[in-house]
Parts: sequence; structure tokens; C-alpha cells
Amino acid sequence: MKIVDEYFGCDVFGPAAMQRYLPHAIYKQMIAVMEHGKELPKEIADTVANAMKDWAMDKGATHYTHWFQPMTGITAEKHDAFINPTGPNAVISDFRGKELIKGEPDASSFPSGGLRATFEARGYTAWDPTSFAFVKEKTLYIPTLFCSYDGSALDKKTPLLRSIDALDKAAVRLLNIMGYDVQKITITVGPEQEYFLIDEKMFKDRIDLLATGRTLFGAPPVKGQELDDHYFGNIDERVKAYMEEVDEELWKLGVYAKTEHKEVAPCQFELAPVFSSANIANDQNQITMDVLKRVAAHHGFVCLLHEKPFEGINGSGKHNNWSFTTDQGENLLEPGDNPKDNIRFLTILAAIIKGVDDYQDLLRISVASAGNDHRLGANEAPPAIISIYLGEELTAILEAIEEEKEYIDSANKKLELGVSALPTIAKDSTDRNRTSPFAFTGNKFEFRMLGSALNISCPNTILNTIVAEELTQFADELENYAAEDLTKKIIDLIRRTLKDHKRIIFSGNGYSEEWRLEAQKRGLMELKTTADALPHYTDPKNLALFEKHKVYSASELHARENILLENYYQVIVIEAKTMAYMLRKQILPAVFEYEAKLATIIQTKKASGIDSPLEEQILFNINDPLELVSKHLENLEELIESNPESEKEKAVFAADKILPLMEAIRSLTDTIEKNIPKDFWPLPDYNDMLFRS
Ligand code: ADP
Ligand code: MG
Repeated sequence: MKIVDEYFGCDVFGPAAMQRYLPHAIYKQMIAVMEHGKELPKEIADTVANAMKDWAMDKGATHYTHWFQPMTGITAEKHDAFINPTGPNAVISDFRGKELIKGEPDASSFPSGGLRATFEARGYTAWDPTSFAFVKEKTLYIPTLFCSYDGSALDKKTPLLRSIDALDKAAVRLLNIMGYDVQKITITVGPEQEYFLIDEKMFKDRIDLLATGRTLFGAPPVKGQELDDHYFGNIDERVKAYMEEVDEELWKLGVYAKTEHKEVAPCQFELAPVFSSANIANDQNQITMDVLKRVAAHHGFVCLLHEKPFEGINGSGKHNNWSFTTDQGENLLEPGDNPKDNIRFLTILAAIIKGVDDYQDLLRISVASAGNDHRLGANEAPPAIISIYLGEELTAILEAIEEEKEYIDSANKKLELGVSALPTIAKDSTDRNRTSPFAFTGNKFEFRMLGSALNISCPNTILNTIVAEELTQFADELENYAAEDLTKKIIDLIRRTLKDHKRIIFSGNGYSEEWRLEAQKRGLMELKTTADALPHYTDPKNLALFEKHKVYSASELHARENILLENYYQVIVIEAKTMAYMLRKQILPAVFEYEAKLATIIQTKKASGIDSPLEEQILFNINDPLELVSKHLENLEELIESNPESEKEKAVFAADKILPLMEAIRSLTDTIEKNIPKDFWPLPDYNDMLFRS
């Protein structure tokens, strides 16, 4: 039996490996680069590259790759061998600093949203020394950023790093004004990953799963999640073996995979890591998704990361736990145990409340995708309306502050801002409301709208940037006051902010219809679909925000809006094509066959003078919806062919025309499926996939 602390991180070029393979002085420089964001001196790049290569080759690597996260949402890599020809029939293993620092993948086919002119279609990758390189399947993976020659970000990581800088700058400035000796803050993120596991055989027999990641047809199973008997249930042997291998792989890659349990739906599971810095958490979540998928194949499973693989059964999300910490290791979202730190906590809390209210649209956009639209607003995931849940006690404290009332806590202690400490907020009382999209959970916020397949960089980029903006506004205001007035001015500022933005705080049931009406009254935004949400990306206030904090330039933002709109449209068109294909090639022929069989029975019986009311009824049950399906199918095929002009029109067309028609077809086909014997149905059904996996 292997002991985890002996092999944890063994495939990562982390501090331990660096210390072994690098000269001490250079090792120190590398650590400074990683910890303090210092620039890597060019002249040490060759040494670092060589050490990395030696280490990787000792681990069996033959190739290296610049690993990057283009705007498609999945990671990309292009492998090069560590060899250089030295003469006829001779090579040496070689890896130079310049190859480490910069790569030029021929990556002109990635979407750039117009950021690259075609005559200069290549982008380049640049090593990100703040994340760790690692070895996987005989290849050294070097985390990189992906940019165009004019420096525009063509990926998801570059804006994330820029937003980390922006929040760092803004928070340090405000904390310094407030009298804290802080030089740097670190953003911490822990993404909880949900997924489905189904049998590989069932998966391969379903073209919809293969091509789109979700089932486009399927009558409900005999048993869904009514009994709640899957949630936290025992994990069976095969799944257990899978999870053990996943853990081992992740631990080798330095990912702190910690908690695993069954989720609400049959075949659904969750993996939560221990949090790490935002940049590393982002890379590690990509690694986690990759390992979950890869290891599944060893156990005859397929891991589905789609947000809604099965209709009528909970979908999969990804809770993004987010906080930030000072260089003294103090979590800034931890209510303090002394008056001064409490004011700091409340100031930051007020800034977050204001940020979430001011930029509801951006938070919604940050989780927008065709897949996630099936979850948001359904009775399983937060609604498409953004609100904040703070827990009863904190909400009551904020109310008391806003209304300048006394607050007496449960231990009968009076709260006086600036004088006494906040009552200890019981952790339990903060995490009851699972229906909230953005919940305070004791010492961090949990953003719960993310879909399971999402790259987490966008939501974190947006969170960091909006909070950077609010902290900057606070700093601009507070820097004008003398130290002795500061506490009073801060309390005024908190009070004013709460008055202006309390509409975003909501403690009730986010799934209820009353909340939608209430949210409308409060003037909160409800951006139901990706097509509704995305066009707000480039609203003037959002452009101004991103330009001010140097997170996205105007052209980078326009590019993203277009790419995401186009992607949304394409995903839905592929689903529509898959649906049409399955109907024509599999479902309709099967239904005709069964109808013919029924007709024959009816005729044979009739010839013998016997009535067949039952057979006729079934034939009718099938044929009635079938006629409609066939009509809708022709319409669907027309919609697939029509190609609206702009990206915006395409997205709206997909949301308003294609999707509703697909839903109508599905509901009719599911009725037909219920009336057809299993042997005639050409696909594994929901019972097969959910119970025989
Ligand atoms: P709960 O969601 O019940 O509060 P945990 O406290 O175990 O559960 O945390 C869930 C996730 O939040 C884990 O991935 C954990 O690492 C992460 N997390 C905990 N503290 C922080 C923090 N300060 N910053 C970011 N993520 C955190
Ligand atoms: Mg949680």
C-alpha cells in the first residue's frame, strides 16, 4: 500500500523538485517569482529549462508541451520531443530557456473573435511561472498563457492573472489606508466538482451522449431521486475503485482531492479539493476534470461533465468557494475576534455586496453556457437571478448597523461597531440555504451558479475585478480622511452601502416563484438564457470596469462576447442535428417496425373475427404523437439550415426557435418510447443508464 505523503505531488515540478534540480541561488529566485509575482530574470531561464527537462526525463518524459486554456473552454496542448539533431543519425536531449518561455503553436484555428487578423493568425504561448509544471503520460506540461502578437489575450488564464493583480492592488491600497501593514493578498479558491458516471457501453450506444454530452431523448426512469437514497449513500465497489485511482492520480499531480461523496441524482458524484490560490486552483480544476474522464475508461465508465445529461434528474454544478487572505495569512472574510478586524471584515463584506449588486449581469454572464442554461432556474440549481445569502445572524447584524439600532447577540452581548467584537457567527447558521446563488459560508463566499463543465477562470476573473472596483471606490473615498476620523467614516460608508445595495441580499427560498416576483419588484436582473445575458458583456459600464482595471481591453471583451454567442449557437445546432439524425436513422425506423408489427397482429386477428382494442389503442398512442414529430422534424431541419446573420441574432434564434422545438419533439418522442417494447427501442433507456451502470 502506497502512503500518500510519500508520493503526493511527485509528478509536479514544485518546490521540492526545484530544490533538488536547481542551483540554490536560482531555486531561491524561482520561489520569489512564485510567491511574490516577481519577474523571472531572462538569464536564468536556460538553467530552469534544463533542470525541468532533467527532472521530467527522470520521470520518464520524452516530450514537453505548452499547456494553455484557449477560449473554447477546454485545455489545449501540442507536444514536442526533447530532442535536437546533432549530426547524421544522432540527437541529444535538449530543452532551452527560450523554448520554456515562449512557444508558437500553430493554433490559428482556435476562435479569436477577430482578435487576430488572418495574415497574422498565429498566437504565442508564454510560460506562467506562477503555476506548477507537471508530468503526465510521459509529457512535461508547462502551464502557459496564450496571446496574440499585439499582446491581446486569446485565452482564459491571462485575464484571470490580470484580475488577480487588480484585486491585489486594490485590496492592499485600501488595507493600507485603514492602517494595516499588508503588502500582498492571495485569492483562494476551492471548486467542488460534480459529475455523472455511466457505463461505457451505454454511452457508446447513444449518439446524443457521444456528440453532445447529454441525452436528447429518454422517458423518465421507473425511479428517479424521489427517495433521496443516493445522496451520501454507500459507494459501490466499482465506483470506489475508480475514486481511489482518481485520488491517486490527482495526489501525484499535487491536487488536494479531499472529499468524495454521492450526490442527489443516481450515478452522480462530487469531488471537493482543499482550496488553493486562484491561479493554481484554476489549473488544478482543469487537471481534475481531465483525470476524472481519463480514469473512468480504466473502469468501464464514462464520466459526464455536462451540466444536464439527463432530463428530470438533477444536473451537475461546480461550487466556487472564494476568499482572499493577507500576506500574514489572515482570511479577510473571516469575521474578526476584535473590534478593529471586525470593521475590516464588514468593509470588505460591504464592498462585495455592492459589487454583486452593481454587476449582477457580469456574474450571470460568467456562468453562461448552453449546458448550464438547463440547470439555472430549474428546481435544482440557483435561479438565473443573482442574490446574496448571508445567514440569519449576519443579516440581522447588517440591518442593525444600517438602521443604527442596537444588536444583542444570542449570548446577550451588545454589538457596538468599532468598540466590541462581532458575535461569533456560528458556522452552521450560515450554510443552510442551498438555493442561493452566492452564499456566505462562514469565512468565504460560495458562488453556486457555475456549471460542472465550466473553466472556473471566468467567474473568478469577474469576482476579482468587481471586488477590486468596489475596494478602489472605497479607498478613493477614505484616503481623504485623517486617521482619527477614519473609523467613523468607515462606519458611515458601510451604512450607506448597505442602504443602497441591500436589495441584493435575500435569505428565502431562491427556487420559489415568489422570489422571482419579489426580485422583479426589487429591480434585480433576471437573465434567463445565455442569449439574454451575453449581450450585456459589452455594456458601457462593464467595458469601463474592465478597461480601468486592465483585465480586458474593449476588443478583447467584444471578442469574448462574440465567441461565446457563436459557441452557444453552434452547441444548440449540433444538438438539433443530432436529434434529427437519431430520429431519421434510429427512432423513426424502430417505431415504424413496431407499428407494422401491431398492424399485422390487428389484421391477423381481424381475419379470424377477433377484435383488438388493446393493440389499436397502443397503435393510436404511438401514431398520434408520431405524426406531430414528423412535422416538427421537418421544421427543425429547416431551422438548422437557416443561418442568421449576426452572433446576437444566432443566439436568440437558437434560444427562441430551435430549443423550444427540440423540447416539443422530445416530449412527444418520450411518450412514444413509453409505449414501445424495450426490444424495439433502439437506444439504452434511462433505466439502463442510471441503474445498470
Ligand atoms: P462547506 O461547503 O460545507 O462549508 P468546506 O468548508 O469543507 O465545506 O469547504 C468546501 C470547499 O470550500 C472546499 O473545497 C474548501 O477547500 C473550500 N474552502 C474552504 N475555505 C476556503 C477559503 N478560505 N477560500 C476558498 N475556498 C475555501
Ligand atoms: Mg459547499
